[in-house]
Amino acid sequence: MESKSSSQQFDFSDSEDSPVRPYRPITKVLKDVLVDNQTHISSSISQSETAVEVWSSTHPKESSNVDTVKYEKPCEDNNNLQERPSPAGDADNARFTKLRRSLSVSSQRKVVYMCSHQYINLCDEMLKVPGRASMVAGLIEAYRLTNLLSVVEPRAATFEDLCSFHDTEYLDFLQRLSNQDDQEKYDDVAQQYGLSYDCPAHPGVYDYAAMVSGATMQAAQSLMNDTADVVINWFGGWHHGKKDAASGFCYTNDIVLGILKLREKFSKILYVDLDLHHGDGVEDAFCSTNKVMTVSVHKHDVGFFPGTGSINDVGFGKGRYHTVNIPLRDGIRDTEFSALVCRILVKVKEQYQPDVVVCQCGADGLAGDPMESFNLTPFALGKCLYTLLSWKLPLLLLGGGGYHHANTARCWSYLTAVALGRRLGTDIPDHKFLMEYGPDYSLEVTPGNKRDLNTQDSLQQIYSQLLYNITQIKQTS
Ligand SMILES: [Zn+2]
Repeated sequence: MESKSSSQQFDFSDSEDSPVRPYRPITKVLKDVLVDNQTHISSSISQSETAVEVWSSTHPKESSNVDTVKYEKPCEDNNNLQERPSPAGDADNARFTKLRRSLSVSSQRKVVYMCSHQYINLCDEMLKVPGRASMVAGLIEAYRLTNLLSVVEPRAATFEDLCSFHDTEYLDFLQRLSNQDDQEKYDDVAQQYGLSYDCPAHPGVYDYAAMVSGATMQAAQSLMNDTADVVINWFGGWHHGKKDAASGFCYTNDIVLGILKLREKFSKILYVDLDLHHGDGVEDAFCSTNKVMTVSVHKHDVGFFPGTGSINDVGFGKGRYHTVNIPLRDGIRDTEFSALVCRILVKVKEQYQPDVVVCQCGADGLAGDPMESFNLTPFALGKCLYTLLSWKLPLLLLGGGGYHHANTARCWSYLTAVALGRRLGTDIPDHKFLMEYGPDYSLEVTPGNKRDLNTQDSLQQIYSQLLYNITQIKQTS
């Protein structure tokens, strides 16, 4: 147990004992989208100086009943986003100002997007997220964001590439299993390698894993070559993969492979994991080095996979204090989530001074996800992304979980626009998967109404403890 410091108080708004907000479904009817699609699309992308609102932990209480966040509303017009004096005082106000000024910077970044038909088809085959890749790519295309991105066709990682992290015996078996039609006869060995339950082997699984890993490694290479400021691989981000086993839908750990590639050029790498689940595979790989710092925010509760990610896990040896875990309970909402995570990230940046950032943007904490845990909307992740973009460091963005496919596509399309410094129209443009976005056909995700089990005190305690740990970094580096 690390000792705690309460030197900085932190207002987490009305998170404690706040009433459950009524659920107000959006009833907007599909109308002009289908009538004049071209006009709609062209007007749905507008360059904006204020693509994302500035995060705040001190939203006015009267705005807490707002169910639907308006993506098109300028922050100046949104009472929910007005600055108020915060307990942290001038430091917070200065941070708000700095963040707002740097909003326009993101639009000048060169953003690369890893995508191809072959890649999408392989990812669509994934048994746990069938067809999701097509929906994500389809919505990004429908918003014409691909016109603003440099689309790069990924190459599969070689066996040797994968060996930079994974054991050859595991990869050998995965490859052999992948080429078999009758996989049942390998069941016993498969279980030893985690290839059952959450990670069922299926024909072609090796090709899929090699392609996802190759895409993330290639994305890393783009940052190393200075051919991109931000690289996006929404179909990567499989953070549970172990050195010698599959775990939690992850056959290989493309994130670890990408970070190892980045290490060929960059000295200090910050990994941020926004998925609902703890980023255990990445943490395990780097918990004893100070060359990679990991920050994972996740649900941490009895019996919830993978069961790791305690706030007291801070790393080992040279890596001590370079592991940061932000454990949350069910029901966390946008305001509290982004306020806590962004403040932790700012402190980590100050202390660690990374050269490059990798961010896993798993969307399974969104309201509506079958995981039924957090109450988040894409705005929560957007605010974290905005904080990262404001640092002007090379940035690798990855996907991850997200089992409500339409909401995941909404989220990652929105985050793509954030990276580009663009704003998206609320109406989903007409495209092949339009009907999947009913009944409202809107980009918006309504916040969940699950009871928030994270109290003001518990959030304050997490913040204080992590703040103390983070300030120890320089003393051990
Ligand atoms: Zn997850």
